Amino acid sequence: MKKIEVGVLGATGMVGQRFVSLLRNHPWFDLAWLAASDRSAGKSYGEACSWRLREPMPESVRTMRVGECKPGGAPQLLFASLDSKVAGEVEKEFARAGHVVVSNSSNHRMDEDVPLLIPEVNPDHLALVRVQRQQRRWSGMIVTNPNCTAVGLVMSLAPLHAAFGIEKVMMTSMQAISGAGYPGVPTLDILGNVIPYIAGEEEKVERETQKLLGKLTDVQVQPSKIVVSAHCNRVLVEDGHTESISVSLNGKASLQDLIGVWRKYRSRPQELHLPSAPAHPIVVRDENDRPQVRLDVESERGMAIVIGRIRHCAVLQFKYTALSHNTIRGAAGAALLNAELMKAEGYLE
Ligand code: NAP
Repeated sequence: MKKIEVGVLGATGMVGQRFVSLLRNHPWFDLAWLAASDRSAGKSYGEACSWRLREPMPESVRTMRVGECKPGGAPQLLFASLDSKVAGEVEKEFARAGHVVVSNSSNHRMDEDVPLLIPEVNPDHLALVRVQRQQRRWSGMIVTNPNCTAVGLVMSLAPLHAAFGIEKVMMTSMQAISGAGYPGVPTLDILGNVIPYIAGEEEKVERETQKLLGKLTDVQVQPSKIVVSAHCNRVLVEDGHTESISVSLNGKASLQDLIGVWRKYRSRPQELHLPSAPAHPIVVRDENDRPQVRLDVESERGMAIVIGRIRHCAVLQFKYTALSHNTIRGAAGAALLNAELMKAEGYLE
């Protein structure tokens, strides 16, 4: 198969670097174009980017020139990880010009005609792009992945919702600093500290959960009626969001039922053998003190949700801990999996 040329908008940021890293040797996609702000445009990627990943910057991108975020010369398929201050307009400009924009930013996630996707959870929502193209009269499209905290929560809830139905959820997050981009949270704010506020985060997690678990009708998604309450905290962890979750189900279930449903969970990306799909989208740990960021965040190349500490809850019915890699499963890996699903389902032809 001839590889598809792709580009990255916002290639120099935390998520942009993940894209560059994950696209190295990708079997379907070939990274051919990079863009970022005026501060970086015109420079080589090696010069413009403060590379912060443990693995070295791929040699193939070091000398690539960073372009401006303007259509013209970019490949048709673009991954986007732009600062949300500019992402809204820039993404629309590219979609209007015929590009397929697979975005990480929050700006269009809740637009009625924009798919908000987790390929394991709601692959059918991808069909919304037909409505989008018709309504907006553009040949391109925008497809989004969820907020990095919503991903872990929703992937853990989706199999329970399918098996038993969910009534209520409470989630308290401990979110890594890489979730705030680069250079991110100032040292004097976060060192030896927990910050109990991330602007807009709790609202995003609550709304996006309902859209992701909603039902697709002909023209829109009917949000689910699950009651969701989120507390979001920033903690001094490099990568990996940990979530303490309590849940009430509609149907009856035992702890063993929950564990069985999670362990068996496989979905469309696994059936289609998508290159970035984890073999086990949910990994259940039996040890009392897992998941832990340092030990578990790289599970399934950062694409799995790791669940543990599954027990009864005296307020809601069950409680557990879930861990996800925020810049892989919560961002670049999520978008890559979205694009792979789109390719496999014929949306990139
Ligand atoms: P980041 O490290 O701050 O990177 C932002 C990127 O946007 C950089 O490439 C930057 O380029 C570019 N940019 C900034 N202003 C621009 C402008 N005026 N025109 C064009 N490009 C501009 O942020 P990040 O953490 O990678 O996040 C990127 C997006 O993904 C955000 O919308 C964020 O909410 C979302 N997201 C992040 C995570 C995460 O875990 N970090 C997870 C899910 C979603 P320069 O380097 O040239 O300034």
